[in-house]
Amino acid sequence: MKPNFLQTPIAYLKGVGPNRAETLQTELGIQTYHDLLHLYPNRYLDKTQYYKINQLKDSGADVQIMGKIVHLKTVEQKRGKRLVATFMDDTGEMELVWFRAQKWMRENLRLNEPYVVFGRINRYGSTFSMPHPEMELLKEHQAGLKIAMQPIYPSTEKLSAKGITNRVISKLQQQLLLESKGQFQETVSGAILEELKLFSRADALLNVHFPKNQELLAKARFRLKFEELFYIQLQLISKKIIRKQKIKGFPFEKVGHNFNTFFEKHLPFELTAAQKRVIKEIRADLGSNAQMNRLLQGDVGSGKTIVALMSMLLAIDNGFQACLMAPTEILANQHYNGLKELLGKMEITLELLTGSTKKSERRTIHERLQNGSLHILVGTHAVLEEKVQFHNLGLAIVDEQHRFGVAQRSKLWHKGGSPPGEVGGVSIPPHVLVMTATPIPRTLAMSLYGDLDISVIDELPPGRKPVKTVHRYDSNRLKVFHFIKQEIKKGRQVYIVYPLIQESEAVDYKDLMDGYESISREFPLPDYQISIVHGRMKSQDKDYEMARFVKGETQLMVATTVIEVGVNVPNASVMIIESAERFGLSQLHQLRGRVGRGAEQSYCILMTGSKLSEDARTRLQTMTRTNDGFEIAEVDLRLRGPGDLMGTQQSGLLNLKIADIVKDNQILNTARYYAVNLLKEDPRLEKPENLPIRKQFAKMVKDKAIWGYIS
Ligand code: ADP
Ligand code: MG
Repeated sequence: MKPNFLQTPIAYLKGVGPNRAETLQTELGIQTYHDLLHLYPNRYLDKTQYYKINQLKDSGADVQIMGKIVHLKTVEQKRGKRLVATFMDDTGEMELVWFRAQKWMRENLRLNEPYVVFGRINRYGSTFSMPHPEMELLKEHQAGLKIAMQPIYPSTEKLSAKGITNRVISKLQQQLLLESKGQFQETVSGAILEELKLFSRADALLNVHFPKNQELLAKARFRLKFEELFYIQLQLISKKIIRKQKIKGFPFEKVGHNFNTFFEKHLPFELTAAQKRVIKEIRADLGSNAQMNRLLQGDVGSGKTIVALMSMLLAIDNGFQACLMAPTEILANQHYNGLKELLGKMEITLELLTGSTKKSERRTIHERLQNGSLHILVGTHAVLEEKVQFHNLGLAIVDEQHRFGVAQRSKLWHKGGSPPGEVGGVSIPPHVLVMTATPIPRTLAMSLYGDLDISVIDELPPGRKPVKTVHRYDSNRLKVFHFIKQEIKKGRQVYIVYPLIQESEAVDYKDLMDGYESISREFPLPDYQISIVHGRMKSQDKDYEMARFVKGETQLMVATTVIEVGVNVPNASVMIIESAERFGLSQLHQLRGRVGRGAEQSYCILMTGSKLSEDARTRLQTMTRTNDGFEIAEVDLRLRGPGDLMGTQQSGLLNLKIADIVKDNQILNTARYYAVNLLKEDPRLEKPENLPIRKQFAKMVKDKAIWGYIS
């Protein structure tokens, strides 16, 4: 095989040519031999097994059966005629059905002769049928050359229209493998191959396209999945190593006056063990010379805010400023008020900057940031504006990060002003702490954020009563209203939340307003006061309504999901979620986290119509079964796949060709383990036995910084 064999343009492959090359390129993105070789089958038709009719189970399976046609008839129906054959083996009978080419079939099918049929089965009650089976007489079947497992490649309408059928692609793969003579360069080390008993790369490629049986296919797929995940991990981990070695951070060497005073005099409660551990982890990061880039995961109500505050005090103790950003104005306000209260009489200066901060105040804030007299800035995206420059920003904290993109996070890096720690003209970025209440299974998180460090608060403050969650149908609404009234009588407050999905905003808005009206009728003035908050209101009005609820002036809060994140009203003990079937699991869990914050027993009531999809049912059952955010995250991941998880885009884990980060979690862990160890033992991939890895890595890594570090 020539050295650049795999880089050959696909048009040169026998059987392709310029026209097909163009179609392959536009439809499947295939430009080179390499691309074609890495177009893996989506599935395989397994013709290694022969099924008995009494072994058939469900609709949708592709099966191969030996038997005889004992009877043939034409059935007339409103929608047209069909040809039906009764097909028998020694265990039972089933039907073969034709809608097309009935005449030809009728004339050519032979009764009472052994056939091998292959096709997809449908089940109707206890009868199985197979429409348009592939038919082969048993004696021809035995004589012919069998494809054991037939690969089925991804296809598009245009491909088939242009005659590039599955058969054609299969032929092209065959041609390519033939020309290559199977001499594919190995890409993992001999040690790994041996330890994991992996197929060689050549064997894997051959067997993924033309497996002889399930075992060989499984081995081929394992090898290719491992390789794919291994190289992604290798990249992520080396990025992290580089960051730790190359990106300097401000060392916060002392734990000073502010931190200690707060800890001794102002901390309103005992920290949980998890909070203490996380603060320790953060302190260790901040005390080193490297920049901290840490993700703090903690379920709703686990107490992330106090961790944020104490980290900011560390910054201030070391002569730096800090900022805390929240995704909404309501949240920023709440953080501002909360921190102010926590700081009490301590001499820390704190300001709030949001879209609705007045111009004059804004100017003062800008000035005080630049002259360093302002210690902490709390705000929304407004903090990211160009004009906002710090004297020396040492720590930036982002709350509920899924609302912030990576690009925005990186803007924070350049806000430091001209810090005293500047070295050789390179400005040092602030430490970054990202807090999220969207739990992700830990192993997956490590893989997704391979270049971030992760801390987890996995414990709720003591004395919390778990929220009781129930599912109620709309038809039971009166009972639910009755329950709400009882709770309000006890002095509690209630959220009623409506969905707001961007695409159907107008409809959702109407639902909210209709709901508001009926609630106003059911809970009339002056006995009941109702707040309403939704996205179409001005932010002052929102804040006003929210404030009334926070102060306890209103008993009911009717809202869209704007209250989803962070809002803290400990006296609110009931969360009603309308059209709960329309919410995703993590959103339901977030909403539920708004209650159960006080000492009282809290409730979450999921209201739905009577028609529910299977997924919706699973979501509701999961919510009523457990309060554990990590468990919920696992179910969510299974239902939705990882597409919506933050970080998946950047990590490259979404563009996987063969592995699946959810289903192949085990392989992912193995790959990560090997990648970590490899870089530990041979950080620069210099050992001769790691040469294959070094070569492959060089090909893959477009990021010069990483390669620069390795070589
Ligand atoms: P989240 O992690 O959702 O941001 P918060 O920081 O808002 O959680 O904390 C939720 C509530 O728990 C707040 O009222 C906070 O004062 C309280 N809290 C936090 N830590 C503790 C603790 N160790 N003991 C008791 N209450 C705590
Ligand atoms: Mg919070």
